[in-house]
This record gives sequence, structure tokens and C-alpha cells, in this order.
Amino acid sequence: MQDVTFDVGRGEIVGIAGESGSGKSSLALTLLRLLPRYAVVERGRVLLDGEDLLAMGEDDLRRIRGAKMSYVPQASMNALDPVFTVGDQLAEAVLAHRDVGREEALRAAAELLDEVGVGRDRLGSYPHELSGGQRQRVAIAMALINSPELVILDEPTTALDVIVQAQILRLLEDLRARHNMGMILITHDLSVIAELADTVIIYYGGRVVERAPAVELYRNPLHPYTQALLKAFPDVRARRQRFSFLPGSPPNLADPPPGCPFHPRCPYAFDRCRTEVPRLREVSPGHWVACHLVRGDADGRADLREGPEGVLPVLQGAAEQDNRHQAIREGGRRREHGHRPRRGGRARRRDRQR
Ligand code: SF4
Repeated sequence: MQDVTFDVGRGEIVGIAGESGSGKSSLALTLLRLLPRYAVVERGRVLLDGEDLLAMGEDDLRRIRGAKMSYVPQASMNALDPVFTVGDQLAEAVLAHRDVGREEALRAAAELLDEVGVGRDRLGSYPHELSGGQRQRVAIAMALINSPELVILDEPTTALDVIVQAQILRLLEDLRARHNMGMILITHDLSVIAELADTVIIYYGGRVVERAPAVELYRNPLHPYTQALLKAFPDVRARRQRFSFLPGSPPNLADPPPGCPFHPRCPYAFDRCRTEVPRLREVSPGHWVACHLVRGDADGRADLREGPEGVLPVLQGAAEQDNRHQAIREGGRRREHGHRPRRGGRARRRDRQR
């Protein structure tokens, strides 16, 4: 993992998107200093209210984890302890960080269970007595119980059915507004990010390859990898479309290719890409891209540089592109509600003949 720099403000949601294997979860574990012992952070800082988490002693770190900063790991709904009730587990999280008695801890747990929509009557339930969606809400409650300033959620809706996914997304939006906390939302699902994030980071090969406000990124994706990800997302408004996919797989992070990590899969790669890592640079206000073919001009607008293989085609400018953000949000919602895409005339005729 290299050259990863971003900020998360109070009340802000930063979405981090990329394929499986791009290093998103390792990034979350690095921020929390939960990497396995054999992993080493050579350089860098993780600042929370000005305190560098990477330079802290274990005791100070324990004081911060679960209190000022918390984590909802992947498949967290399966991480609840099966032999303790939900109330006991939530109360334990309070007692670990606050100087209160058990009764008050249970009262806080009951209030939060109401807030996340599980209900205080489930305080005495064991995890196996809850549905998947309820367990995920309990896992989110566990992360919020000490009112942290920052919550990192790793794939919070994966493995849930589409209806429950939509409910969890709405819950996260409500909780962010009510508690004014920062969130880092890690997912491979661009519709989740389009729905919630203020800022989007596209992550590839352990590096940030593009970072921009969400609306800007969906309207004007500049990095070839971002463009490929967006093209692979079906447009629910299109009557007919050819699915596009990105051949190959993300690089081995232990032995990344030289130069741009995306060059083995990039259709626009040229000689320089194979030897020189592109720097992340601001190509227009707030929009950062790491690609040799993209640079900013004097007016702060993105400008495309011509490479030997031609100019990087920009999706920007096409009428469909102005609606891309909306179409992806809508696609996510329709998928969440089990909507079936509209079928073309030939398919409808075939259906009638059956
Ligand atoms: Fe493709 Fe080169 Fe840009 Fe990397 S730097 S994304 S290989 S054009």
C-alpha cells in the first residue's frame, strides 16, 4: 500500500471502492493498527484529532479503538459471540470505555437497540435468535455505542438480501445525520457508494488512483480503471446494452508490477506506464487522478494528454454521462427492491410465445 492520503471530516462519508483483492480491507486494518504481526507500516501517519495512531502505545490505542474510532468488519453479523446475549455484548463495549455501572451500560444498550431498529425487547436475545439483518444492526450498534468520531465499515451490506441492504443503507444515513460522525465506507458495490458517499476514492493495487466528490466522480470519471468500473455497472434505464467487463485481475500486492499498477490491464498503456508510477495530482478542484494521460490545466480543469495510443476517451460530455450518477443510484435502489429490468420487444414476444 503506497501514497494513500485522504481526510474524513465530521459528518462526512468517504467511500472507498475497488475490486476484491485491491487492498481495501488492508487499508482499514492499517488505519486501526490491526494488521497481522508480519505486516509492517514503514512510513506514514494516521491522525485522529491530531494524534498519530501509528506512533501510539498499545494502551493508548485500546483507549481509542471502540471509543473515538470504531470498526464494523466484513461479515460482522457473524462475529457476535454466540454464548452471550446481545445486551451483554453491547454493555461490555460500554463498560470497557466508560466509568459507569452495569445498569447504565444496559440502559445505553437498550436505547441504541431502539435507535438501530432492533428494539430493546431483544436485549436478552442470543445472536442465533436474530435474523441476518438484525445481527448486522447489532454489529453497527456495537460500533456506535460509545459515540465514536469515526466509524470504518467494511462491506456493511454484503451477504444481506437486497431489501435488508436498503434498510441498512438508510440506517447508516440516519445515524450519520444524528450523530454527526465521520464514516469510511469500504465496498466493491458502486451503487452503495453512489447512495451514501460525499467523497469517493477509487483504490487499485494498494494505491489511490482517483479521488473526487461523489457527483463529480460519477459524472466525470477520468482514470481508465474508474471508467472501466463504471462501464461494468449496468444502466437500468438502457433498453439494450452490451455488458462490459475488465479482463484480468488485480495485481499481487506483495509483488506489484513496475510502473503504473494498472498497466497490464489498461487499454491505453504506453511505454512510460510500464516504468514510471503516475503521481496522484489534482487535475481540477478537489478531483485527483493518478494517470500519465490526465493532467490539470492552468484554469484548474481536467485536461487529457495525448499518449502514443491516442487520447484517453472521456465519458464526460456524452448526454448519458450527466445521468450516470443518478442511473447508478437508481440501479442500486431497483436492485435493492428486487426490480426486474425492462425487457426489450423481442424478449417480450418470446415470453408471450412460451
Ligand atoms: Fe493506463 Fe498509463 Fe494511465 Fe496507468 S498511467 S492508467 S497504464 S494510461
